[in-house]
Amino acid sequence: MGAAASAAVVAGFDPSRRAWATGESAGVLDRVPPLDGELVVDDAAREAVATDLGNIVRHKPHAVLRPGSAKDIATMVRFCRERKLSVSTRGQGHTTHGQGLSAGLLIENKHLNKVHSLTPRTAVVDSGLKWMDLTKAAFAHKTTPPTLTAYTGLSIGGTLSVGGIGGLVGGLNSGLQVDHVRELEVVTGTGDIERCSRTHQRDLFDAVLGGLGQCGVITKATLDLIPAKENARTYALEYGDTAAFCRDLRTLIDRPGVDHVYAELFPPGTNATYKLYATAFFDSAQPDNAAITRGLSAAPQITDAGYLDYVFTIDNAIDELRETIGWDRFIKPWYDIWLPGSTIENYLAEVVPTLTKRDIGPYGAGLIYPQRRALTTRPFPRLPKPDGTRWAFVLDINTVAEQAGPDPAFVEEMLARNARLFARARDAHGATLYPIGSVPFTAQDWRTQYGDRWQAFHAAKRRYDPSGILTPGPAIFG
Ligand SMILES: Cc1cc2nc3c(=O)[nH]c(=O)nc-3n(C[C@H](O)[C@H](O)[C@H](O)COP(=O)(O)OP(=O)(O)OC[C@H]3O[C@@H](n4cnc5c(N)ncnc54)[C@H](O)[C@@H]3O)c2cc1C
Repeated sequence: MGAAASAAVVAGFDPSRRAWATGESAGVLDRVPPLDGELVVDDAAREAVATDLGNIVRHKPHAVLRPGSAKDIATMVRFCRERKLSVSTRGQGHTTHGQGLSAGLLIENKHLNKVHSLTPRTAVVDSGLKWMDLTKAAFAHKTTPPTLTAYTGLSIGGTLSVGGIGGLVGGLNSGLQVDHVRELEVVTGTGDIERCSRTHQRDLFDAVLGGLGQCGVITKATLDLIPAKENARTYALEYGDTAAFCRDLRTLIDRPGVDHVYAELFPPGTNATYKLYATAFFDSAQPDNAAITRGLSAAPQITDAGYLDYVFTIDNAIDELRETIGWDRFIKPWYDIWLPGSTIENYLAEVVPTLTKRDIGPYGAGLIYPQRRALTTRPFPRLPKPDGTRWAFVLDINTVAEQAGPDPAFVEEMLARNARLFARARDAHGATLYPIGSVPFTAQDWRTQYGDRWQAFHAAKRRYDPSGILTPGPAIFG
């Protein structure tokens, strides 16, 4: 086992007390097998992973695995399975409702973070690597992942477990991040290390991509890369009116030459209700501004940036919030849903006028991301039922509290708001959950969410995690 300088390294598990123990323990221990990394139980290590970005749910794990290899994860999953201990994997811990927390073992996957190889078309990476680091490495060879989240300080395993929508790259001309995976290495809930792809062990491949960590721990991934352009030109347009905004949104997502589109939404009383951003990537030949903005009802503000500066815009903004206000400590009861193309406009017209400033907060954001449906291929990120349109949209009301620190009344109010908003969005507008946020869900809600895929998901769970130890956070299978 790799030595820890100061961490309390686990020697074994005391079955009589059902507790992990260090070398000083008096009882008879089930010895932990040798590991390439380390297993620790000191309070600082456990406290650091006891909550996620939401600061709403707390589960302090009994032990933290800092894996040195996929083999370590397999060893510890087997060890925990024999003792009926829950196991969760943490990427960067940026979900907001305890999805990746565990009262048993917590695998701190950020320690597996290598880029194993890069070719012009593919990258082979450890799943604990951040998208930011892959993007920098790929861009040095003039390539990029085809889909990048708005914030790239997220782990590859984390976003592949939820879907990975194109916050700043992708969505119009590429699928979700899960649609650009060629092969995976996965440690299943039985502690086996498996490889899977569209053609090999497909049920496992299907079940882990967008599968919320229910059937295995993704340890390695072979991902698509595409050629990167040097620059990004962004056209920003403001609207007070939902109909005009939606008209221009629909125009821009289908407009030749536009590579990416997203929008911000604001509560009533703000200068603009919507801000729409359309981006064209380019090398030396400049985008045709007149062609891109033809017929739009608002006047664009145009900004050019280098590709990496563009891709890291939100990372820089979040870094600043972390430094200036300690953003990590704020409560974040996020509301994130998928809406069908046919209902987005009615939904916005219904909900946006009801929002207050407190619903978003000074450090939060309301966001809309389009996704071309034909480019999505995986069964488990649950997009809305096909509705005859070519588009689905993610809508986020990413609420952040007005000040740092605990506020149980605010949590209760916002979770109730999310439950109410979601019930109406699902029942009247055909929404599904994008499961990164804080919407309380019952077992029946999960069944409804998976719909005709529920049986397949359940079968994969029984096959690959028969003892039901993996990722209890979302309580999908009880
Ligand atoms: C500022 C900000 C911007 C964002 N922008 C976007 C965006 O543009 N598009 C988008 O899609 N999302 C976006 N997100 C949401 C983000 O995708 C999710 O929060 C995602 O879960 C974060 O990745 P993570 O590494 O923090 O995962 P974690 O929160 O650590 O994990 C997410 C879930 O996956 C499980 N998990 C983690 N790693 C593995 C693994 N290797 N194998 C199996 N299961 C695993 C965890 O147990 C947990 O259930 C954003 C989040 C933030 C904070």
